Amino acid sequence: MHRVFVSADIPADILSPLHGLAEVDMWEGPGTAPRPALLERLPPCQGWLSMLTDTVDADLLDMVPGLFVISQMSIGVDNIDVAECRRRGILIGHTPDVLTETVADTAFALIAAAVRQLPEGMELVKRGEWGPWDPWAFLGGDLHGSVLGIVGMGRIGKAVARRATGFDMTILYTSRGDKAVPDATRVELVDLLRRSDVVLIAAPLSPETRGMIGRAELAEMRGDAYLVNIARGPLVDTAALVEALAAGSIAGAALDVTDPEPLPPDHPLVGLPNCLVVPHIGSASVRARRAMAQLAVDNLAAALRGGPMPAPLPDAGAMGE
Ligand code: NAP
Repeated sequence: MHRVFVSADIPADILSPLHGLAEVDMWEGPGTAPRPALLERLPPCQGWLSMLTDTVDADLLDMVPGLFVISQMSIGVDNIDVAECRRRGILIGHTPDVLTETVADTAFALIAAAVRQLPEGMELVKRGEWGPWDPWAFLGGDLHGSVLGIVGMGRIGKAVARRATGFDMTILYTSRGDKAVPDATRVELVDLLRRSDVVLIAAPLSPETRGMIGRAELAEMRGDAYLVNIARGPLVDTAALVEALAAGSIAGAALDVTDPEPLPPDHPLVGLPNCLVVPHIGSASVRARRAMAQLAVDNLAAALRGGPMPAPLPDAGAMGE
């Protein structure tokens, strides 16, 4: 019988199909399995249900000679050395689609919170500084009638664009290829940065996209514009973002993902009044997380049976590998 390792606590009803197919060794928490636990418990395994916090590199793979399938419970697989896995014939599964609408909800919530300055208002109330109503205090931007620039018009980008259309926003986007998205115009990145009231990052992390929003790109954004990152922290140069926010050269940022993660409490991003940070909760709804776990289990079970996975990682290029 095969043996599999599961890097986080998965509800028993979702995990149950694996029990007839393999001996299951599961990290029961807290959080996800730390590196020492992987090094200790993975070596006898043929299958692995991994998390985005697992660093899957050649050193680790060398210690797991029988491994033939990694089923990751996320869409992004930037933590996995995909080329090395392909070279070794290791199958990779991931969890597209089942989280898209939830992540788009989170992205839109971040956009609205930043533009309408909700965190600043909340902080003021909590500090007991809510004074008499002032017609000229707390003036943020508007969602309606503003321009949303989406960097990476994929599943999540399109789902956010649908929401933005309902808010009467004009939609610009960049992607390497043209996308058939109603009422959205493909432009060059620099054009998007100059024209957008809100720039949303929704592209995968790859060697090509790492640091794609740096000092030069932030300098192209308008002083009253907001940056929202729902993708992966390293797409944005953190030091450059801190500088831009501190100098007020952009109005603010709302970040679901950061570089590093987690952010230490004394990190400059945490202390900036015009920066809203939430702890990578893009897909954190009960429904989405259960669906992601289910698809990850289905991928792993299919591979253990020797059949095709319902959601294999597409070939190089499609994921920006
Ligand atoms: P997707 O459907 O693959 O969409 C990504 C889009 O980015 C593709 O349409 C791709 O289009 C575009 N792209 C790739 N390289 C680009 C580049 N250099 N410049 C501009 N656009 C580029 O993926 P998705 O499901 O929307 O997810 C996107 C990313 O969001 C994931 O990779 C993941 O890292 C992140 N994510 C975060 C959370 C969270 O909790 N915060 C949850 C889910 C996903 P072209 O190929 O035409 O360029």
